[in-house]
Amino acid sequence: MDLRTRLADWPAAGPQIAGSLRNLGLETIGDLLFHLPQRYQDRSRLTPIASLVDGQDALVRARVEITDVRYAGRRQLRVVLSDEGRGLLLRFFHFNEGQRAAFAAGRWVQAYGSVRFGSSGPEMVHPEYRVADDEHAFQTSDALTPVYPLTAGITQPRLRRLIEAALRLATTDVHLAAQLPGLPAPDSLPALRSLHAPAGAADATLLIEGTHPAQQRLIREELLAHQLCMRLLRRQVRTRPAPSLGDLPASADALEAVLPFRFTGAQRRVIGDVARDLEARRPMLRLVQGDVGSGKTVVAAAAMLAAARAGYQSALMAPTELLAEQHYANLSRWFTPLGIDVEYLAGKMKKSEREQRLARVSSGAAPIVVGTHAVFQQSVAFDRLALVVVDEQHRFGVQQRLSLRDKGPQGSSPHQLIMSATPIPRTLAQTVYADLDVSVIDELPPGRTPVTTVVVNNVKRDEVLTRIADACRAGRQVYWVCTLIEESEELDAQAAEATAERLKAELSDIRVGLVHGRLKSDEKDAQMRDFKNGDTQLLVATTVIEVGVDVPNASIMVIENAERLGLAQLHQLRGRVGRGATASQCVLLYQLPLSNTAKSRLETMRSTTDGFRIAQADLELRGPGEILGRRQTGVIGLRIADPVRDQALIPPLQQLADDWLERYPLDAQRLIARWVGDVEKYGQV
Ligand code: ADP
Ligand code: MG
Repeated sequence: MDLRTRLADWPAAGPQIAGSLRNLGLETIGDLLFHLPQRYQDRSRLTPIASLVDGQDALVRARVEITDVRYAGRRQLRVVLSDEGRGLLLRFFHFNEGQRAAFAAGRWVQAYGSVRFGSSGPEMVHPEYRVADDEHAFQTSDALTPVYPLTAGITQPRLRRLIEAALRLATTDVHLAAQLPGLPAPDSLPALRSLHAPAGAADATLLIEGTHPAQQRLIREELLAHQLCMRLLRRQVRTRPAPSLGDLPASADALEAVLPFRFTGAQRRVIGDVARDLEARRPMLRLVQGDVGSGKTVVAAAAMLAAARAGYQSALMAPTELLAEQHYANLSRWFTPLGIDVEYLAGKMKKSEREQRLARVSSGAAPIVVGTHAVFQQSVAFDRLALVVVDEQHRFGVQQRLSLRDKGPQGSSPHQLIMSATPIPRTLAQTVYADLDVSVIDELPPGRTPVTTVVVNNVKRDEVLTRIADACRAGRQVYWVCTLIEESEELDAQAAEATAERLKAELSDIRVGLVHGRLKSDEKDAQMRDFKNGDTQLLVATTVIEVGVDVPNASIMVIENAERLGLAQLHQLRGRVGRGATASQCVLLYQLPLSNTAKSRLETMRSTTDGFRIAQADLELRGPGEILGRRQTGVIGLRIADPVRDQALIPPLQQLADDWLERYPLDAQRLIARWVGDVEKYGQV
């Protein structure tokens, strides 16, 4: 029996408990040690009933006044405790006669639970409790009680006992006892012990604040493991050969000659970064971050041109069909004068058409291929793939990137250029994309006037309508965005249709168009084309226009129920206006009541257009998991570290990671196994 023993083979757990623990990602006894408390209960102090605070956990001691059983929706046992004339109601929905009898009037109860203020004052539902005849029969506990993340089939006390047993087994584990170079004391095992079994009142404040040395130690271990893992993944890719493409500077010049504009300084600088990567015989792994509208596409196009001119193929993958179409249109427009064909792999194509196009891809006859991620995930074979461009990184996981490893010619890996319009704060990027080099396009093309944003209560919708009608009559164009009401494309589409009908009636002289996710792609195209050509003046849209669409004459955006959207999405949407020379406006309509978070979001949108500031605010409001989408939460999978709170720790740990890979590769493997699991599994999350 040691830390590597599987939980199912451990008599203390057994197959059934092991099954539940698997839902928490715990497979071995050792895994239990790294299932860390999410918070602590403090049972060291008694709180008088008069001082209870709504929403807080508290330990109370008082006498039973009345006990009865009632039907209030459900059958429940109600025990009223009283303390200096103030009452606390305990409610139990699951109880037996013995329990009921124990709560005899006049006896003493010590209860620990979360306090809610109901209609009749403070109450606790299903507190942990003890009953006694004498006030002095109870004790308070000196130490904190850990509270763990749970899953069905397992209780806190059960989990606590298992973890205590695991800690006892851990004392003889050699790996856990090993000193880890470069990390501060305490060592791993004493640190784990401090977190699972806090010593006493002295530790309590530090643990609750998260500043205890044991927590600081384990946070560093976890961040280091994460950096190590990302670096190993990067190495796996970077040890492969890649075609050297030395022609980027010349290709960029050739592209610029057919463009109606000059590159910005920032674009030129990023092209320089990419040129150095492409020249080397190792696969490029580069993330290009740039705010919406910063002009990432031409940077990618220059690289694709360099590949084509060297006789190789490149692929551009977009997150949506609409965006893929737009990339296809842009690339065709730019590359046709240069004599280079662009192939489009649409999501829906006639079988014969599809086969023809795939044949051109696999024979190498198509130098530039555009499609959605989905299209590329199916087996598309290339003849000489040298470069993959991924648009909108945050929807594309590590695993998907890894799957590109083998797509190059003769065992080589293609270069990877990832474009992200979600400006991720630097610290988070360092944690999440530690396997990528990062370039930032931090300058918008000239001639753009910043968007002014106003936040307007929906009761003033009529005033907004009047202004919009005036603007349309003056030749401007307007997006009207309906936000998601239900998690259903169908209902969403219906809501957008209803809104369009209503606006048509309200603004009878304005030509209104409509796009939503349920339209067939040719209908969607037609609607977008009409809007682009100015045939429609106001376009009602669901959030499908979030990415991509480029209509420079559209200078007003109204977002209905803006309070429902996250900052990242609002920022993306707003990026659709402000692309031409006219001053643009964004109107965020909201419906009361507003939550505090919604209020902060709207205020952030009103006060800044800087994508990086917005991303930072977003991170602070939501936490890292949500920003990256559910799947990426798993990819980060941090248990104790928080890339925002702990950002100052990251740079030195990056250095330490390099040092470890050089000098202590075995320790590196063990630390990864301890915190992350194995590298390949990590990629698959
Ligand atoms: P994003 O970075 O959001 O993907 P795009 O690549 O779609 O931005 O570029 C937004 C718009 O700006 C496009 O119409 C593009 O042609 C234009 N654009 C890109 N670079 C420049 C530039 N240097 N000068 C003027 N317009 C540019
Ligand atoms: Mg783009």
